[in-house]
Amino acid sequence: MTARVLVVDDIFPNVKLLETKLSAEYFEVLTAMNGPDALAICEQGLCDIVLLDVMMPGMDGFEVCRRIKGNPSTAHLPVVMVTALDQPSDRLKGLDAGADDFLTKPIDDVALLARVRSLVRLKAVTDELRSRVVASRDYSIGDPLAAAAADMGLNGRLLLVDDRRSSYERLAAALGQYHSVEVDPEPHQALVKAAEGEFELVLVSLGLRDFDGLRLCSQIRSLERTRHVAVVMIAEADDRPRILRGLDIGVHDFLVRPVDRNELLARVRTQLRRKRFADKLRESVQASMELAVTDALTGLHNRRYLDGHLAAMFSDAVRRGRHLSLLVLDIDRFKRVNDTYGHDAGDEVLREFANRIRAQTRGIDLVARYGGEEVVVALPDTTFEGAHALAERIRERVEGSPFTIHRGAQSIHVTVSVGVSARQAADASAGDILKRADLALYRAKEAGRNRVVAAAA
Ligand SMILES: [Mg+2]
Repeated sequence: MTARVLVVDDIFPNVKLLETKLSAEYFEVLTAMNGPDALAICEQGLCDIVLLDVMMPGMDGFEVCRRIKGNPSTAHLPVVMVTALDQPSDRLKGLDAGADDFLTKPIDDVALLARVRSLVRLKAVTDELRSRVVASRDYSIGDPLAAAAADMGLNGRLLLVDDRRSSYERLAAALGQYHSVEVDPEPHQALVKAAEGEFELVLVSLGLRDFDGLRLCSQIRSLERTRHVAVVMIAEADDRPRILRGLDIGVHDFLVRPVDRNELLARVRTQLRRKRFADKLRESVQASMELAVTDALTGLHNRRYLDGHLAAMFSDAVRRGRHLSLLVLDIDRFKRVNDTYGHDAGDEVLREFANRIRAQTRGIDLVARYGGEEVVVALPDTTFEGAHALAERIRERVEGSPFTIHRGAQSIHVTVSVGVSARQAADASAGDILKRADLALYRAKEAGRNRVVAAAA
């Protein structure tokens, strides 16, 4: 997977060195030699990941990082801080500024590429979601990007998988100040818990006595139930091959023993923020997709959804030589309900009407609000006779008991007219069936309403 890497450093030879290394691995490289230029490139959406020098005149790397992470339109960009020395204080300042990782100069090629690749892969997952959220902003579901960027990464629900008491007691005590922590020394049980429980992040010791911690990491990353959980591994300093392997299989971050308390807290916070950001994106994509196919008042499918799916149902029925029937239902004299009792009462009637239809239909039936007070029900694998019987049942259920309005304060008598039709061999599209059902509905109205009329063959 290739990506656009922004290299930011105030010293030209440093920029060149990284550019050469990354270009050799087929990354596309952009460069900036100061903070403001770097921010401009990020904001224009020209890069996928930022390698950021800490020491720069004017705006230093910490400030640049803070601004990237504080801006909803750039907060999703992974930032790797490049420090001259492995300064614990620099690392903490960087993590506080929201950095995703660190590299120490002189930069080790293997570590550089492993880090860049793994961060690029993680970003690719959120990019797709992000573009859909941005595209659907007019759905008035708020601004999930801004909300997610503002999360502080506290009060997480953590699972710590470690079988050394002296280690887990210390880690759990440190994390317990800001999060709720559960410890499980047994990896199989931990996996079950992770799949059942509501954990946001799992810390896995790679030094478990009878089990390969990496295997647990990989299971968590691949199981459907847990694949959105953040995973952080805890490794020995000399266990570099396994750390790289872990990053390769999608582990989000790692800590090296002896674990520095502040670094532990900072990395967990960063991962919680990243995970919550991705969760928010996923939720809003889901919400906007549902909004796009659902009628807000009744919860039935909307016309757009019906148009798309009815065509698919039709060709499926043709291909398999199966029945397909349609009902068009229309509440009688609905305008009078609105005029007499108000539009809120009209809405209540529509919702209850939808509920009574839903109660009579199957999961495979397609029930959609077609417009106003009209509902279309598409019935796959259903004969004309079956559809007619269903229509009659719904008509009875509507007429049979009054509809309450004004939140139960009043009730009114409602009836429905229904047109029924079924697919015929000569039909070219679902529209033909729909047209016949519509005509039948019209005849039902003409004949005095509150009745089911079959389409002429
Ligand atoms: Mg510098």
